[in-house]
Amino acid sequence: KANRKFHPNDTAVDIAGVKIGGGEFQVIAGPCSIETKEQMTEVAQKVKEAGAGLLRGGAFKPRTSPYAFQGLHDEGLRLLLEAKKATGLPVVTEIMDASHLPLFEGVDLIQVGTRNMQNFELLKELGKIDKPILLKRGMACTIDEWLMSAEYIMAGGNENVILCERGIRTYETAVRNTLDLSAIPMIKKKSHLPVIVDPSHATGIRFMVEPMALAAIAAGADGLMVEVHNNPAKALCDGPQSLTPEGFDHMMQKVMKTRDFF
Ligand code: PEP
Ligand code: MN
Repeated sequence: KANRKFHPNDTAVDIAGVKIGGGEFQVIAGPCSIETKEQMTEVAQKVKEAGAGLLRGGAFKPRTSPYAFQGLHDEGLRLLLEAKKATGLPVVTEIMDASHLPLFEGVDLIQVGTRNMQNFELLKELGKIDKPILLKRGMACTIDEWLMSAEYIMAGGNENVILCERGIRTYETAVRNTLDLSAIPMIKKKSHLPVIVDPSHATGIRFMVEPMALAAIAAGADGLMVEVHNNPAKALCDGPQSLTPEGFDHMMQKVMKTRDFF
Protein backbone atom coordinates (compact mmCIF):
# COMPACT_ATOMS: atom_id res chain seq x y z
CA LYS A 1 0.00 0.00 0.00
CA ALA A 2 2.96 2.34 0.56
CA ASN A 3 4.46 1.39 -2.81
CA ARG A 4 4.57 4.04 -5.54
CA LYS A 5 3.97 1.32 -8.14
CA PHE A 6 0.31 0.95 -7.18
CA HIS A 7 -0.22 4.62 -6.35
CA PRO A 8 1.59 6.90 -8.84
CA ASN A 9 0.36 10.21 -7.40
CA ASP A 10 1.78 11.80 -4.23
CA THR A 11 -0.47 11.41 -1.21
CA ALA A 12 -1.52 14.40 0.87
CA VAL A 13 -2.35 13.53 4.47
CA ASP A 14 -5.03 15.69 6.06
CA ILE A 15 -4.48 16.53 9.74
CA ALA A 16 -7.57 18.32 11.00
CA GLY A 17 -7.69 20.39 7.82
CA VAL A 18 -3.92 20.97 7.54
CA LYS A 19 -2.35 19.01 4.67
CA ILE A 20 1.14 17.54 4.39
CA GLY A 21 2.31 16.07 1.07
CA GLY A 22 1.06 16.32 -2.50
CA GLY A 23 2.71 19.74 -2.80
CA GLU A 24 1.58 20.93 0.63
CA PHE A 25 4.48 21.83 2.95
CA GLN A 26 4.16 22.28 6.73
CA VAL A 27 6.41 22.99 9.68
CA ILE A 28 5.66 21.24 12.98
CA ALA A 29 7.22 23.02 15.96
CA GLY A 30 7.16 23.01 19.74
CA PRO A 31 9.09 21.78 22.74
CA CYS A 32 10.58 18.31 23.08
CA SER A 33 8.54 17.81 26.25
CA ILE A 34 5.51 19.50 27.68
CA GLU A 35 6.73 20.92 31.01
CA THR A 36 4.38 23.63 32.30
CA LYS A 37 1.29 25.53 31.20
CA GLU A 38 3.34 28.73 30.78
CA GLN A 39 6.05 27.01 28.70
CA MET A 40 3.53 25.28 26.44
CA THR A 41 1.27 28.27 25.82
CA GLU A 42 4.18 30.68 25.24
CA VAL A 43 6.01 28.40 22.81
CA ALA A 44 2.74 27.55 21.02
CA GLN A 45 1.89 31.22 20.48
CA LYS A 46 5.40 32.10 19.28
CA VAL A 47 5.72 29.23 16.79
CA LYS A 48 2.28 30.01 15.41
CA GLU A 49 3.26 33.65 14.86
CA ALA A 50 6.42 32.50 13.07
CA GLY A 51 4.40 30.33 10.66
CA ALA A 52 4.26 26.82 12.11
CA GLY A 53 1.24 24.85 10.88
CA LEU A 54 1.20 22.24 13.65
CA LEU A 55 2.24 22.13 17.29
CA ARG A 56 4.36 19.39 18.89
CA GLY A 57 5.00 18.46 22.51
CA GLY A 58 5.91 15.16 24.19
CA ALA A 59 3.96 13.79 27.15
CA PHE A 60 5.26 10.21 27.08
CA LYS A 61 9.03 10.46 26.64
CA PRO A 62 11.18 7.48 25.60
CA ARG A 63 14.30 8.42 27.62
CA THR A 64 17.52 6.42 27.56
CA SER A 65 17.82 6.58 31.35
CA PRO A 66 14.91 5.53 33.57
CA TYR A 67 15.99 8.29 35.99
CA ALA A 68 15.58 11.06 33.39
CA PHE A 69 12.34 13.09 33.10
CA GLN A 70 9.71 10.75 31.65
CA GLY A 71 7.11 13.35 30.65
CA LEU A 72 3.91 14.57 32.31
CA HIS A 73 1.75 11.83 30.78
CA ASP A 74 -2.02 12.59 30.96
CA GLU A 75 -1.40 15.99 32.57
CA GLY A 76 0.94 16.81 29.66
CA LEU A 77 -1.69 15.83 27.12
CA ARG A 78 -4.15 18.09 28.93
CA LEU A 79 -1.74 21.05 28.63
CA LEU A 80 -1.14 20.24 24.96
CA LEU A 81 -4.89 20.29 24.26
CA GLU A 82 -5.13 23.64 26.09
CA ALA A 83 -2.45 25.05 23.77
CA LYS A 84 -4.33 23.59 20.80
CA LYS A 85 -7.47 25.38 21.90
CA ALA A 86 -5.63 28.66 22.47
CA THR A 87 -3.85 28.67 19.10
CA GLY A 88 -6.09 26.60 16.86
CA LEU A 89 -3.06 24.57 15.74
CA PRO A 90 -3.46 20.80 15.29
CA VAL A 91 -1.25 18.88 17.73
CA VAL A 92 1.29 16.06 17.43
CA THR A 93 2.51 13.86 20.28
CA GLU A 94 4.22 10.49 20.71
CA ILE A 95 2.53 7.26 21.77
CA MET A 96 4.55 4.47 23.37
CA ASP A 97 1.86 1.94 24.23
CA ALA A 98 -1.42 1.11 22.51
CA SER A 99 -3.15 0.94 25.91
CA HIS A 100 -2.75 4.74 26.09
CA LEU A 101 -4.85 5.31 22.96
CA PRO A 102 -7.97 6.47 24.84
CA LEU A 103 -5.88 9.38 26.21
CA PHE A 104 -5.02 10.46 22.64
CA GLU A 105 -8.58 11.26 21.59
CA GLY A 106 -7.99 15.00 21.11
CA VAL A 107 -4.58 14.50 19.45
CA ASP A 108 -4.59 15.22 15.70
CA LEU A 109 -1.41 13.39 14.60
CA ILE A 110 0.00 10.46 16.60
CA GLN A 111 3.77 10.05 16.52
CA VAL A 112 5.62 6.75 16.62
CA GLY A 113 9.18 7.51 17.71
CA THR A 114 12.42 6.05 16.40
CA ARG A 115 12.55 3.48 19.23
CA ASN A 116 9.15 2.05 18.38
CA MET A 117 9.39 2.00 14.58
CA GLN A 118 9.47 -1.79 14.67
CA ASN A 119 7.08 -2.29 17.57
CA PHE A 120 4.83 -4.26 15.27
CA GLU A 121 2.00 -4.83 17.76
CA LEU A 122 1.80 -1.07 18.35
CA LEU A 123 1.82 -0.46 14.57
CA LYS A 124 -1.01 -2.98 14.10
CA GLU A 125 -3.13 -1.22 16.72
CA LEU A 126 -2.51 2.13 14.99
CA GLY A 127 -3.63 0.51 11.75
CA LYS A 128 -7.08 0.02 13.27
CA ILE A 129 -7.75 3.71 13.91
CA ASP A 130 -8.31 6.47 11.38
CA LYS A 131 -6.06 9.17 12.85
CA PRO A 132 -2.96 10.19 10.88
CA ILE A 133 0.31 8.64 12.07
CA LEU A 134 3.78 10.26 11.98
CA LEU A 135 6.21 7.37 11.64
CA LYS A 136 9.78 8.32 12.55
CA ARG A 137 12.61 6.27 11.08
CA GLY A 138 14.27 3.75 13.37
CA MET A 139 17.78 4.98 14.10
CA ALA A 140 19.29 1.72 12.81
CA CYS A 141 16.73 0.87 10.15
CA THR A 142 16.98 0.78 6.39
CA ILE A 143 14.60 2.62 4.10
CA ASP A 144 12.92 -0.67 3.13
CA GLU A 145 12.42 -1.65 6.79
CA TRP A 146 10.93 1.80 7.42
CA LEU A 147 8.52 1.40 4.51
CA MET A 148 7.51 -2.05 5.79
CA SER A 149 6.63 -0.45 9.12
CA ALA A 150 4.40 2.02 7.27
CA GLU A 151 2.92 -1.03 5.55
CA TYR A 152 2.04 -2.55 8.96
CA ILE A 153 -0.10 0.50 9.74
CA MET A 154 -1.60 0.71 6.25
CA ALA A 155 -2.34 -3.02 6.06
CA GLY A 156 -4.84 -2.56 8.90
CA GLY A 157 -6.73 0.06 6.92
CA ASN A 158 -5.15 3.29 8.17
CA GLU A 159 -3.46 4.79 5.11
CA ASN A 160 -2.80 8.20 6.69
CA VAL A 161 0.92 7.79 7.27
CA ILE A 162 3.61 10.49 7.16
CA LEU A 163 7.26 9.43 7.28
CA CYS A 164 9.87 11.39 9.27
CA GLU A 165 13.62 11.12 8.69
CA ARG A 166 15.29 11.96 12.02
CA GLY A 167 18.88 10.80 11.53
CA ILE A 168 20.47 7.40 11.76
CA ARG A 169 23.27 5.96 13.85
CA THR A 170 26.68 5.94 12.17
CA TYR A 171 30.30 5.97 13.38
CA GLU A 172 30.20 9.79 13.48
CA THR A 173 30.06 11.20 17.02
CA ALA A 174 30.33 14.94 16.26
CA VAL A 175 26.55 14.99 15.78
CA ARG A 176 23.84 13.13 17.73
CA ASN A 177 22.74 11.22 14.61
CA THR A 178 23.61 11.46 10.92
CA LEU A 179 20.86 13.08 8.87
CA ASP A 180 20.24 10.84 5.88
CA LEU A 181 19.15 13.38 3.29
CA SER A 182 19.41 10.74 0.58
CA ALA A 183 16.42 9.01 2.20
CA ILE A 184 14.14 11.77 0.92
CA PRO A 185 14.55 11.33 -2.87
CA MET A 186 14.75 7.55 -2.34
CA ILE A 187 11.45 7.48 -0.44
CA LYS A 188 9.90 9.70 -3.10
CA LYS A 189 10.98 7.17 -5.71
CA LYS A 190 9.70 4.15 -3.79
CA SER A 191 6.58 5.55 -2.14
CA HIS A 192 3.77 8.07 -2.56
CA LEU A 193 3.71 8.88 1.18
CA PRO A 194 4.73 12.32 2.44
CA VAL A 195 8.16 12.55 4.07
CA ILE A 196 9.30 15.23 6.51
CA VAL A 197 12.64 15.86 8.24
CA ASP A 198 13.47 16.43 11.91
CA PRO A 199 16.77 18.36 11.91
CA SER A 200 16.66 18.71 15.72
CA HIS A 201 17.10 15.05 16.65
CA ALA A 202 19.16 14.46 13.51
CA THR A 203 21.91 16.83 14.66
CA GLY A 204 21.36 17.37 18.38
CA ILE A 205 23.05 20.77 18.05
CA ARG A 206 21.19 24.08 17.85
CA PHE A 207 23.35 25.82 15.22
CA MET A 208 22.96 22.90 12.82
CA VAL A 209 19.16 22.87 12.84
CA GLU A 210 18.64 25.74 10.40
CA PRO A 211 21.16 24.66 7.71
CA MET A 212 19.88 21.06 7.77
CA ALA A 213 16.27 22.28 7.60
CA LEU A 214 17.08 24.22 4.44
CA ALA A 215 18.97 21.27 2.96
CA ALA A 216 15.95 19.04 3.64
CA ILE A 217 13.76 21.38 1.59
CA ALA A 218 16.26 21.30 -1.28
CA ALA A 219 16.18 17.48 -1.13
CA GLY A 220 12.39 17.48 -1.51
CA ALA A 221 10.98 17.17 2.02
CA ASP A 222 7.24 17.81 2.46
CA GLY A 223 7.78 19.40 5.84
CA LEU A 224 9.92 19.81 8.92
CA MET A 225 9.61 19.05 12.60
CA VAL A 226 11.67 21.34 14.84
CA GLU A 227 12.10 21.58 18.62
CA VAL A 228 11.57 25.05 20.11
CA HIS A 229 11.84 26.03 23.80
CA ASN A 230 11.33 29.39 25.50
CA ASN A 231 14.29 28.68 27.82
CA PRO A 232 16.50 25.98 26.26
CA ALA A 233 19.10 26.18 29.05
CA LYS A 234 16.44 25.04 31.53
CA ALA A 235 14.68 22.51 29.27
CA LEU A 236 13.96 19.14 30.91
CA CYS A 237 14.85 17.35 27.66
CA ASP A 238 16.85 18.19 24.52
CA GLY A 239 17.74 21.79 25.42
CA PRO A 240 21.02 21.75 23.41
CA GLN A 241 19.15 21.15 20.16
CA SER A 242 16.15 23.39 20.88
CA LEU A 243 15.79 26.69 19.05
CA THR A 244 14.63 29.78 20.92
CA PRO A 245 11.43 31.33 19.54
CA GLU A 246 13.67 34.02 17.97
CA GLY A 247 15.90 31.38 16.39
CA PHE A 248 12.82 29.62 15.05
CA ASP A 249 11.49 32.82 13.55
CA HIS A 250 14.87 33.40 11.88
CA MET A 251 14.84 29.88 10.47
CA MET A 252 11.27 30.29 9.20
CA GLN A 253 12.15 33.39 7.16
CA LYS A 254 14.76 31.31 5.34
CA VAL A 255 12.49 28.25 5.15
CA MET A 256 9.83 30.27 3.34
CA LYS A 257 12.36 31.74 0.88
CA THR A 258 13.87 28.32 0.24
CA ARG A 259 10.40 26.85 -0.32
CA ASP A 260 9.64 29.55 -2.88
CA PHE A 261 12.92 28.85 -4.66
CA PHE A 262 12.17 25.14 -5.00
C1 PEP B 1 10.65 13.22 19.61
O1 PEP B 1 10.37 13.66 18.48
O2 PEP B 1 10.18 13.70 20.64
C2 PEP B 1 11.55 12.07 19.73
C3 PEP B 1 11.71 11.41 20.89
O3 PEP B 1 12.19 11.76 18.59
P1 PEP B 1 12.89 10.40 18.13
O4 PEP B 1 11.89 9.32 18.34
O5 PEP B 1 13.22 10.68 16.70
O6 PEP B 1 14.12 10.27 18.99
MN1 MN C 1 13.40 15.63 21.75
